[in-house]
Amino acid sequence: MTIKDIMKYIESEYYVINDTPCEICGGGYIAESLKIDIVDDVPYDVCDCICSSCGYEKTFEFCAPFIDEDGFNKAKNMLN
Ligand SMILES: [Zn+2]
Repeated sequence: MTIKDIMKYIESEYYVINDTPCEICGGGYIAESLKIDIVDDVPYDVCDCICSSCGYEKTFEFCAPFIDEDGFNKAKNMLN
C-alpha cells in the first residue's frame, strides 16, 4: 500500500466521522488524535473525536489490517 492509498483511506475515515452526528446533541465531531492500535495482531486506526457543540467525546475505530505503522505515520503527517 502506498502513502497515497493510506492518505485516501484516512480521508475516507474523516468523511465517516464528519457524517456522524453527536449522539448527545446532534452536533459535529472534530478529530482530535489519530493513532494505530494493534489488537490481536490486527492494526486498528483509532480516532479520538470530540463534539464541537457540547464537548462529548467519542472514539472511532477502523480496522486497518493493510496499514503498517510507518506508512500510517507518514501519511498522517502529510495530512496535518
Ligand atoms: Zn454534542
